[in-house]
Amino acid sequence: MKRSIYHLISMFLVLALIGPAHVAFAEDSVFLECGHVLRARAAAEGQGPVYQYAPDRKVDILHVAIDVTPDFKDRTVAGVTTIQFCPIAKELAELSLDAVDLDVTSVSSDAPMAGYNVTDKKIVVTFDEPVAVGRKTSLAITYEAEPQQGLYFRTPELGYNEEDMHLFTQGEAHKAPHWYPNYDYPNERSTSEVTCRVPQDMTVLSNGTLVCEKVDPSTGLKAVTWLQAKPHVNYLIALAAGHFKKIETRHGDIPLAFYTPASMIDLAENSFQDTADILAFYERYIGIPYPWNKYDQVVVKDFVAGGMENTTLTILTDRTLFPDETENIHSSQGLVAHEFVHQWFGDYVTCKDWSHLWLNEGFAVYYEKLYDGHKNGRDSMLYGFYLTAQGILRDRSNEKPIVWRHYDDAGEQFDYRAYSKGAWVLRMLSAELGEDLFRKCIKTYLERHALSSVTTPDLVSVVEELSGRSLDRFFDQWVYHAGFPKLTVSYKWSGVDKLAKVSIRQTQKVSDDVMLFHGHTKLRFVVHGEPVDKEIVIDEKEQDLYFPLEEEPAVVRFDPELTLLAKVTFNKPTAMLYAQLVDQNDVVGRRLAIEALKKKKDKKTVARLKAVLNADPFWGIRRAASQALREIHTEEAFDALAESMEQPDARVRRQVVQDVAGFYRPESLDLTKRVLETERNPEIVAAAIRNLGKYQMGGDGDLLIQYLKSDSHRSCLARAALQAMRMLHDPEYIEPLKETARDRHGSWPTWLFTAALDGLAHLSRDLDDKTTVREFLVGYASHPHRNVQVGAINALGTLGDPKAIPVVQTFLGEEPYDRIERAAKSALDKLQKTKELVPEEVIALRKLVDELRKDTQKLTDELEDVKKRLDAKETQGENDSEN
Ligand SMILES: [Zn+2]
Repeated sequence: MKRSIYHLISMFLVLALIGPAHVAFAEDSVFLECGHVLRARAAAEGQGPVYQYAPDRKVDILHVAIDVTPDFKDRTVAGVTTIQFCPIAKELAELSLDAVDLDVTSVSSDAPMAGYNVTDKKIVVTFDEPVAVGRKTSLAITYEAEPQQGLYFRTPELGYNEEDMHLFTQGEAHKAPHWYPNYDYPNERSTSEVTCRVPQDMTVLSNGTLVCEKVDPSTGLKAVTWLQAKPHVNYLIALAAGHFKKIETRHGDIPLAFYTPASMIDLAENSFQDTADILAFYERYIGIPYPWNKYDQVVVKDFVAGGMENTTLTILTDRTLFPDETENIHSSQGLVAHEFVHQWFGDYVTCKDWSHLWLNEGFAVYYEKLYDGHKNGRDSMLYGFYLTAQGILRDRSNEKPIVWRHYDDAGEQFDYRAYSKGAWVLRMLSAELGEDLFRKCIKTYLERHALSSVTTPDLVSVVEELSGRSLDRFFDQWVYHAGFPKLTVSYKWSGVDKLAKVSIRQTQKVSDDVMLFHGHTKLRFVVHGEPVDKEIVIDEKEQDLYFPLEEEPAVVRFDPELTLLAKVTFNKPTAMLYAQLVDQNDVVGRRLAIEALKKKKDKKTVARLKAVLNADPFWGIRRAASQALREIHTEEAFDALAESMEQPDARVRRQVVQDVAGFYRPESLDLTKRVLETERNPEIVAAAIRNLGKYQMGGDGDLLIQYLKSDSHRSCLARAALQAMRMLHDPEYIEPLKETARDRHGSWPTWLFTAALDGLAHLSRDLDDKTTVREFLVGYASHPHRNVQVGAINALGTLGDPKAIPVVQTFLGEEPYDRIERAAKSALDKLQKTKELVPEEVIALRKLVDELRKDTQKLTDELEDVKKRLDAKETQGENDSEN
């Protein structure tokens, strides 16, 4: 699964409005599950730390056949799920299946049953006589469901186009039981079959092979059946059905197709373009042919994540689609590669329990970056690993290891540890072994565990066997312990001895959780323009290393190949940074030089950064130079940016437009307006619109209203106008925003509509009378689309009108993981704080009035006093004059 930046934006409404720049993996997970984890939470309440393990498998599930008829109007499904199983080691008296809020109408079995019991989370079937070990048994459950998770409708009633109507599912981690019953844990695999009955003009997609498509004359519905004939885990069973269109191609024997909701098919090609090349690359690099029969990708509206790698059917967010006019600002390459490689890592082999999730996600992120290297070159790949590392190397109050069993909810495992740190573990392992041996080990690991579930020791044992290496320490420090090395590196040159001294200190706090690290890397000295590499081992708290060199090196680089995950502090003289800034063989070194040089303010540094912004061969470095000039923030830095706005690469051009607006001055507003007049790329126009939010323009306010009402790809101009309005905090925008949100509810994406509700609430916070806005928001609080509901409730919290408390209270409940109930709780907290503020304010005002009264009295007294004295003096004077 890919948790895209878009996904996080939709979840964190406020972040959506302040811009995506610093959104990283959230520490607190937004994936909320059910079933197994609830037991754990109960245990957590009072019984000490919880450890999570895969449950026992009492039976081997052989095959699951799901037959569902969705009702698009009611947003319900009627289903019959048939499960074939046999008891593993003990005769089976009862079988417990995961099933959330299913309305079960009948259960039948070919083994005589004593009865069954249905709870909100389970169906427990009791047999007359225990089922014998190894006896193949079949169980059929007939039910209806109104899924709140796991299966999602996109219908006109929820604000979507009729022509795009569809539904889709999301199983991982524990959402599948919301639409069919089964054993829901990835330590079990079975074949599966999905039949879906829909109107004849709809398309049905699922895992594996299309085996049957026929119209049932009694209902007029088309029944479409897909069979996944290779065993996979339950969370990978998927269904998408509705008004889709497709484009397709092949790679060898493998059909590749890309589906979108009907109205979006024109955008499909841009996102589909790399698919065949990605498959070819992975087959060659991994050395194992694509393990399934076909690969479909289907884009759905408002997907719950970035993408999901169901076997042979990946579901993708519609946010990945982009038109040509956005140039290279958007790309589906990373998402498509990530989900595709999951077909091997995650699907062909699957983590046995969530504590080993990195075996899915770390591999997906790592191979996604390898494809980037294949397509866009080594610099692009290295730069990707550099940026990924920056997301990991942050101070956290609570560092957890990658393999960690204390989670309360499986969703907590889907964070930077499984994804980016997992990928970095593989990068370091590849560096330890050498790429060829690494590839051989991974191929063997896949072959040996094909179509089964794995834990980290399965990987370790293959690598140790084939490499002869002892890797316990490697995995212990990186996977089973937390944290990363924090290194302070310093360098001294002794001209007399022609000796370079490099000192390395490990400064991370070593504890039971975080080890003193042991690692290999290199030092690179650039002498006479040539690199001189020295292998080093870091294994002590403090190390001094000496290297004889012919001449003083122009550059000293620590870890020049970027093969060690470490937070490195290495202060260097300016001359060395300048040399590093232009080293065309060292993209990461150039970036590190920019990071160091942006702390300087001198003209020479500005001139060099300007040269990099306009001439560096790698766009990421050019973009970083622009950001650095903004941070330097001198007159010269502004001029350097203003003179660098003509950038051929749209990614850099957008950055310069943003950075020019980082300077608050009339010229910056002028440049922004020029961009609005001349720029064609809507994403860059959007950046310029956001810039307007920094200026009280007077008279130009209409411009924002025009953009708010305009149509653009994914409403990027409207979103930017909303962000600018929010920054300006001008009540003038309240009415236009309210009207536009009401009119555009059907055509705006849901995330924009909910952002508009929150923006409206934000602008109205200081109004004396919030009644109209409150009533407007309350009108959406019971909307059938849960995202709209959550958005409206959040906005009521933002509005801060205590009169909304009784409404918000009606959404409170007992389920702490329900999104609506959580939104209500959070809004209520905010509203109660606002309410408490009122008496405090009154108290403060009373105090102030009392003080003023006292002051006034004092002044009056003093005035009286002065007056009396003056009178006395005047009398005296008069007397004097009289004298
Ligand atoms: Zn993933």
